Amino acid sequence: MLNLYNTLSHRKEKFRSINTGKVGMYVCGPTVYDYIHIGNIRSYLTVDILRRYLEYLGFETRMIKNITDVGHLTQDDIAQADSGEDKLLKKALAEKKTPREIAKFYENYFHATEEKMNILPAHYFPKATAHINQMIKIIEILINKGYAYVKNGNVFFDIAKFPEYGLLSGNTLEKLKIGARLDAHPDKKNPWDFALWLKAPKKHLMRWTSPWGEGYPGWHIECSAMSTEYLGETIDIHTGGEDNIFPHHEAEIAQSQCFTGKKFVNFWVHTRHLLVDGEKMSKSKGNFYTLEDIEKKGFSPMELRLLLLSSHYRSPLNFTWQAMEQAKKNLRKITDFIRDLENLAKEKKTETSTASFPIKKFQEKFESVLNDDLNTPLALTILYELITETNKLISEKKINPTEAKNILNLWQKMNRVFGLFLPATEIPQEIKIMAEKRKETRDQKDFARADEIRKEIEAKGWLIEDNPSGYILKRK
Ligand code: AMP
Ligand code: ZN
Repeated sequence: MLNLYNTLSHRKEKFRSINTGKVGMYVCGPTVYDYIHIGNIRSYLTVDILRRYLEYLGFETRMIKNITDVGHLTQDDIAQADSGEDKLLKKALAEKKTPREIAKFYENYFHATEEKMNILPAHYFPKATAHINQMIKIIEILINKGYAYVKNGNVFFDIAKFPEYGLLSGNTLEKLKIGARLDAHPDKKNPWDFALWLKAPKKHLMRWTSPWGEGYPGWHIECSAMSTEYLGETIDIHTGGEDNIFPHHEAEIAQSQCFTGKKFVNFWVHTRHLLVDGEKMSKSKGNFYTLEDIEKKGFSPMELRLLLLSSHYRSPLNFTWQAMEQAKKNLRKITDFIRDLENLAKEKKTETSTASFPIKKFQEKFESVLNDDLNTPLALTILYELITETNKLISEKKINPTEAKNILNLWQKMNRVFGLFLPATEIPQEIKIMAEKRKETRDQKDFARADEIRKEIEAKGWLIEDNPSGYILKRK
């Protein structure tokens, strides 16, 4: 059974879904005013692994990932939560485009990146701007219930009315009062009250009519509206990067629970940041790498995937090019392993030994580390152990075709979780012909010519290893 760390309870808990066999997951998706970077990818990859593993365990999942296309706020504006500049608007003006054009462009980029990273697409990607009516409805109910107040066309959530505020992040009202000072918004009762709706300044391009005048929604309300719409009032899992914990998710809990009177989320899962030179990689700091930057340096999306899987999602990860080099080597090792097994599985030799490879032991170890809060680095260690043990037996000629097929089968199960899309393991036709030619010359005892062909094969990037049943080709 999966034990999953829950930010709300600060401990690992046995995962149980609300409906037997089904899991609803809500993911805070990208704010589409800039390219998504590999830090964002790290967070989406955590959820991808979580979803893949839940599916591996037999759950049917439903994943909703929102697109924030009204861009007045991002996580980087925590302190100025309600007065931060409109990033989408700023970008639109700079690029002489409409905010919608900007959002569409970066949304497409986001989808293309996820596809290259082999991140399973969410079942639905709702957009904030398509849910303004639902947001207005929730805000009206919050006002009627006395949890929110209207002032000069703005609506704020009154956090003094929600005693549970701070349970997720530890930032209770008491602590906030003695902590960092916020520039008081003239219309707020308490500087930490957060905006549900904001009055649009004259030149503000993104505006909607509402019972409180023309304006636009506060950042947090969109996720409460969309998660309720697509997953119901209480949901199994809600995820995001660690910067989402406060104020975004704390605010979501407050407004959702006051709106429905029910618990909002059972499991809160947060990914620690990807760092660069020890600092958070972020759009606003401009210290980020996109997937294209990685590709331009000669690395593939799957090498990046492997690097990100090599650390636990709840440990900070410092990105380095050296670690990318290591990931390249490891992916090569996995690819070679699969190719060798595929070659062995195709061999038509009479099987002298019965299959005895400890498949079950490896599978159990793999599941037990993933059951422990999705420990992907240990799951990879088990894969590397599998490779070492198999290679040893291959060199001792102790793996028969049936065993090769069984190990391949295990790999395919593991890879339903890892999601590594391997480069073609197929050997090019030209190399196969050269290898056959070499075998003929060897059979005719023309070893000098056979050696020349070996060198030609090597020059094309392949190694040839002889064995009793013929030879094995490996990439150099
Ligand atoms: P944004 O587009 O800034 O709203 O971020 C989209 C998602 O990526 C959110 O869940 C963020 O918490 C997450 N995120 C942003 N920066 C990082 C980072 N450096 N490392 C990990 N996750 C991040
Ligand atoms: Zn959100």
